Amino acid sequence: MSESSFDVVVIGAGPAGYPCAIRAAQNKLKVACIDEWKNHDGKYAFGGTCLNAGCIPSKALLESSELYHRARTEFAAHGIKASGIEFDLSAMQKRKTQIVKASTQGITGLFKGAGVTALQGHGRLLAGNRVEYTAADGTTSTLVARHVVLASGSAPMELKTVPFDGTTVVDSWGALEFAEVPKRLGVIGAGVIGLELGSVWRRLGAEVVVLEALQEFLFMVDQQVAKEALKHFNKLGLDIRLGAKVTAAKQGAGGVTLVYTDVSGEQQVMVDKVVVAIGRRPFTSGLLGDGTGVELDERGFIKVDHECRTAAANVWAIGDVVRGPMLAHKGKEEGLMVGDLIAGLVAEVNYDAVPSVIYSAPEIAWVGQTEEQLKASGRAYKVGSFPFMASGRARAMEATAGFAKVISAVDDDELLGVHIIGPMAGELIAEAVLAMEYSASTEDLQRTMHAHPTLSEALHEAALAADKRAIDYPNK
Ligand SMILES: Cc1cc2nc3c(=O)[nH]c(=O)nc-3n(C[C@H](O)[C@H](O)[C@H](O)COP(=O)(O)OP(=O)(O)OC[C@H]3O[C@@H](n4cnc5c(N)ncnc54)[C@H](O)[C@@H]3O)c2cc1C
Repeated sequence: MSESSFDVVVIGAGPAGYPCAIRAAQNKLKVACIDEWKNHDGKYAFGGTCLNAGCIPSKALLESSELYHRARTEFAAHGIKASGIEFDLSAMQKRKTQIVKASTQGITGLFKGAGVTALQGHGRLLAGNRVEYTAADGTTSTLVARHVVLASGSAPMELKTVPFDGTTVVDSWGALEFAEVPKRLGVIGAGVIGLELGSVWRRLGAEVVVLEALQEFLFMVDQQVAKEALKHFNKLGLDIRLGAKVTAAKQGAGGVTLVYTDVSGEQQVMVDKVVVAIGRRPFTSGLLGDGTGVELDERGFIKVDHECRTAAANVWAIGDVVRGPMLAHKGKEEGLMVGDLIAGLVAEVNYDAVPSVIYSAPEIAWVGQTEEQLKASGRAYKVGSFPFMASGRARAMEATAGFAKVISAVDDDELLGVHIIGPMAGELIAEAVLAMEYSASTEDLQRTMHAHPTLSEALHEAALAADKRAIDYPNK
């Protein structure tokens, strides 16, 4: 067995691992990054869940299906006459695959440019900061590393009562690969992933029923926003059933019968395909050899401190495999922080300013605390909101649904939370994240000039409204 040595070995090249490897290399360290992801074509690809089966392919299909939907429902309002609008699902899927390919191949190029040794195959941490690397042909070698970064990501959670079969009952990756639009689609879980996938297939014509065990819709979202969002999902035609606990799936000639219980007792709904989107679990299988000293918590996450150090000296862990929101950008920031800390630089992640986005139509985005969290905390707060209905740009875009909402502290004007449902909310939230990162007050936002006419003026006006000084909408 051959042996080679590195300053840093990163296991996993998803959005947490690959930026970490590149940053460490930028810091003049000798770096290797190992990844075992294989796509359906059997070929290795860097980029992890995000690029291959998550963020990127889902957004490609969301965009295509949204364009189709808008062409059918909104063009007329612009005076555009379009008839016979059709879609070609195989062309949509092909476009998605090309986008994924370009993105994942891009990482190979980035590794090359940064001088990272890119290894495709399996990595396993051994005791004493050594990593066993098994290549595609089965040959193994040992990498000796001063530091090891674990970035092995997450995997879809299974529902025991509705096991995946890869064709009729699928996970989120399977739901991105349908070759035909299912006539009736059952989505189990009304979280971000379930709602995004449900929206794609609904816009393309499927009857979609979403079964959610919790009674509260989007519990992690500011409830004023969640209420508005539910209205729009219903308008799109998603049949969202809350408080619905799925107990069984029975496959028969006519499709799959999903059995669930709600306040009225046992119910059934018949569908053709089922997507189980009940959440993701940390993925560590085959990752840790004996005696590494790395510890897992009761839910299987690798235990780390606020700087992503594990219980083992010079072993770090980042991304979905550790605590915190399972988001690509959260993993990326952790990767950059660790790449810098290993090099002896100062770095940290501000976990109070992690943005979240749901790529629905209208989009939903937020950062900081919700009104419900603030009520529970007892801190006195003020709220300002501004409807996109009153935005000139939104009216020009024929996209007036939703609002921007700013929550700030009564005592010192600190910006505590920003919640947006409306056009391009995922882009607009960046301003709020930057403001919070720099501890801006609401007055700072008020005094910042915003170009006219832009959607960003909604955030400006919401900040003004927090002090009853909005100009373009009556103050309440
Ligand atoms: C449908 C869907 C849509 C999503 N949309 C968004 C979105 O819009 N925005 C967002 O922020 N997040 C989104 N996410 C979540 C996002 O994909 C994850 O948060 C992100 O991918 C986590 O990054 P990671 O690097 O920690 O792990 P991963 O991306 O899971 O990458 C881990 C990599 O490590 C490899 N690996 C694991 N163990 C080993 C080993 N022992 N040896 C070698 N390689 C190994 C895996 O094969 C994988 O390639 C979405 C997820 C899904 C499923």
